[in-house]
Amino acid sequence: MNDEVLARLAATYGTPLYVYDLDAVGQRVERLRKAFPEARHYYAVKANPSGAILERLARAGVGAEAITVGELARALRAGMPAGDILVGGPGQDEDLRALARAADVGRVSLDSAGQWAAWKRDLPPTTRFLVRVRPDVDPNTHPHLATGTAEAKFGLAPDDAVELARELAAAGRLDGLHVHAGSMIGDPALYETILDGLEGLLDRLPDATTVDLGGGFAVPEFDVERLAAGVRARIRERRLTLLLEPGRWLVADAGVLLTRVLWRKPGPPEHWICDAGMAHWLRTALYGAEPPIRVVRPNEDAFAGPLGRGDVDGPLCENADRLGRDRRLDAVEGDLLAVEQAGAYGMSMASNYASDLRPAEVVLDGGRARLVRLRESPEDLWRLEDAARPEN
Ligand SMILES: *Cc1c(COP(=O)(O)O)cnc(C)c1O
Repeated sequence: MNDEVLARLAATYGTPLYVYDLDAVGQRVERLRKAFPEARHYYAVKANPSGAILERLARAGVGAEAITVGELARALRAGMPAGDILVGGPGQDEDLRALARAADVGRVSLDSAGQWAAWKRDLPPTTRFLVRVRPDVDPNTHPHLATGTAEAKFGLAPDDAVELARELAAAGRLDGLHVHAGSMIGDPALYETILDGLEGLLDRLPDATTVDLGGGFAVPEFDVERLAAGVRARIRERRLTLLLEPGRWLVADAGVLLTRVLWRKPGPPEHWICDAGMAHWLRTALYGAEPPIRVVRPNEDAFAGPLGRGDVDGPLCENADRLGRDRRLDAVEGDLLAVEQAGAYGMSMASNYASDLRPAEVVLDGGRARLVRLRESPEDLWRLEDAARPEN
């Protein structure tokens, strides 16, 4: 995104501010479609649940992967057909099941035999079920992001998965098998290893028609074309339907978080205290993520300070309140910084910690800027408290 545009948006809407380029999201969808023309794509809503993004994806024919009643409600509200929605996750409480049943979602991925026992008491009319397998692969990512190891809480061990899948087949509801091995996976070959394991199980499940390889594609550079070259022919040969569930890869690079430098404190290490921190961007504190951060300078000859080295920090009284560590920047007080790759797991993980106010969100659509969510005000912090007062 161009610095002039970003500077203008920050001046108009204030900082911190999330900006998403919907056309960039659309380009990722097209690239995925081209690599996998016959697959069904389910966007993992938790990456970024903004209504504007969901609506754009719905118009592009992308479905949604939803793990909470809030995500399912958002996907439906954005116009995603229920048939294009896949409900998953280790929870699936009664509220989520009730909404999924009323909507008659296309697919559910079961994480445990207990979930199936709950679903089958009152089945949605036509929903088909996948079984999530814990394949025991190490995706070589941050431990918080590795979800397919033998110790992970997700899915069923292979033999248990086959047993549950047979029960589903007997009930006429079996769709297939599902693996989501983790996030920020850089090597497409990992999915081939996962498919190797699944094929062994599918041999025992003649009624399975679908294989869901999950999401987890790393940004910025996951090679979806290589993934396609590695798995498409194998899946076609077995006459299976392929499902994919990318979240981050579709939206991360399409978004930036704009933040203003409040103070530059001398070091070493220097500290750039910004108006955005862990309440607006949690990934640095939670995962040690180090997103690219650059100074936004609309005109070449704008004042630049001396180059310094240090941490880009947030405004709260908390050591983990940080955007980036050990950076070299020439930013001075009042400068605007852009935290890049912020379109995924940015606003979706933002909180009101320290009663900090969540940022506004702006989208660029055909090059035109549009405010899609207001900055929170203090009144938003106590709105639900006021509503709970007995006199209300
Ligand atoms: C989070 C999640 C995804 C998306 O992961 P990304 O790394 O954002 O692509 C897909 N499927 C499941 C089951 C998930 O939990």
